[in-house]
Amino acid sequence: MSHVSVTSTALPARREGVTGGAARVATGAPSEPTPDADAALVSRRPVDNVAAVPARPLSGWGRHPWIDTRLRPSQDLLNASRDAVLFRGLGRAYGDAALPVQGEAGLVTATPPADRVLAFDPDAGVLRAEAGLSLGGIRQLFLPLGFMSPVRTGTRHVTLGGMVAADVHGKEHHVAGCFGAHVRELLMRTGDGELRRVSRTSHADLFAATLGGMGLTGHVLEVEVELERVPSPWIYSESERFHDLASVVDGLAEASADWPMTVAWIDTSVSGPRAGRGMVMRGRWAAADEAPSTQPLPHRSIAVPFTLPSGLVNGATIRLANAALWYKHGSSIKRGVGHPDPWFWPLDRLEQWNRGYGNRGFTQYQCVMPRSVELFREFLLRFQRGGGCSFVTVLKDCGPASEGLLSFPQAGTSLALDIPISPNVPALVRELNAMVIANGGRVYLAKDAFTTPEEFRAMYPRFDDWCVVRDRYDPQRRLRSAMSRRLFGD
Ligand SMILES: Cc1cc2nc3c(=O)[nH]c(=O)nc-3n(C[C@H](O)[C@H](O)[C@H](O)COP(=O)(O)OP(=O)(O)OC[C@H]3O[C@@H](n4cnc5c(N)ncnc54)[C@H](O)[C@@H]3O)c2cc1C
Repeated sequence: MSHVSVTSTALPARREGVTGGAARVATGAPSEPTPDADAALVSRRPVDNVAAVPARPLSGWGRHPWIDTRLRPSQDLLNASRDAVLFRGLGRAYGDAALPVQGEAGLVTATPPADRVLAFDPDAGVLRAEAGLSLGGIRQLFLPLGFMSPVRTGTRHVTLGGMVAADVHGKEHHVAGCFGAHVRELLMRTGDGELRRVSRTSHADLFAATLGGMGLTGHVLEVEVELERVPSPWIYSESERFHDLASVVDGLAEASADWPMTVAWIDTSVSGPRAGRGMVMRGRWAAADEAPSTQPLPHRSIAVPFTLPSGLVNGATIRLANAALWYKHGSSIKRGVGHPDPWFWPLDRLEQWNRGYGNRGFTQYQCVMPRSVELFREFLLRFQRGGGCSFVTVLKDCGPASEGLLSFPQAGTSLALDIPISPNVPALVRELNAMVIANGGRVYLAKDAFTTPEEFRAMYPRFDDWCVVRDRYDPQRRLRSAMSRRLFGD
């Protein structure tokens, strides 16, 4: 692998007990701005004295549940991986995936300080970096060089480790698959304490179990991934409004047949024939001759400065906001070459927007089911009858399932709803999960906080295979999370 130095800060090589790797050029990547509590916390100096790490309540992005956690930010993942029960990235999993078991105040390592670029081969587009490097960091460093992460989530505030652990997908899933499909190798410390190079040819069982394994098969220290070469850093996109759910679902399918990036937004607050009206967005990288000759500078954002009262996001405010979005779009197709940041990450314009849900918080319910207008119409009806309301509701087309034993996407359509927490949420999730299971679908663990062990087993048929691998590399189940306690009972 030839290497290019992305920044000049030299870094001491820190290897231990792992053989067979190419010599690396160590380079320093600047951390991106730290816009929220999680990031602000991890930007502090690393804590080395473990005994001194105090327990404090921590949550996922949905602000539910809160669990006492001893969080230790670290630049030295090699050492920090020895005694942590879990690694945590930028805390963008909505539910309890990046939290320790309730009552145990387990030691969790926050990885964002470990964000160094270790090697980059511009001929092959292969990047090797520490697990704390964020998607925003990759955009900042590599888009000007003509490369981008091959899979982009709806926020740039996710780390490489979090992208592997959730095997994330984006607007391009129907053509590019999950993030794991582009990963070549991981450096991991497994629960048995061993350091391992993990790939499709070395510990292949562990590789498949780690993609989507939510951090429970081992701590990821380094990630080697093939970046996408782009013709320009700008995006050509179109957006079209549709008057009901059927035309949105069909419009999304049509767009996905021709376009590499597609997504739809729907309004779940309208009932009757216009229920599920919405917009379909389709895009591609702009060709060099249609793009501006300048670089798109990273967009500035503003932050919600404090936690708003619970209940502000409710059926009435959601109806108003959704109607405003619908009418603002207008009836004509919008098209043109634009900045990549608002295309990939419209929600990141308002940092810490999760504070808008107050202390009660919210849950994101994301499921995937076969593509069928009738199915999603019935789903929406049940959601509305169950008292559900959702501020942001997104549909995506998914391609075939990936190699990850617990990866979420499978062929069909995915629907994501942001639901404020209220006493009826558990019953609503039971109702929706029953329908998802009956149709061979599943919910996404990176968003989940309410699914039961029985529902989970019915949704993830490869779970038994995954357990065999986990037991092989972590026989004492040293690595655990609030999610693993809730879903697997350990
Ligand atoms: C606004 C928003 C939009 C989103 N859009 C999408 C989307 O389009 N597609 C999608 O797939 N997801 C999406 N997500 C979910 C998000 O991509 C995942 O939850 C991702 O895992 C978060 O990464 P993180 O670095 O914040 O990890 P965290 O939330 O901190 O952790 C998530 C899981 O990864 C594990 N983990 C983190 N780092 C490591 C490591 N180094 N080694 C081992 N395990 C580790 C944790 O233990 C935990 O189980 C979105 C989330 C938000 C808030």
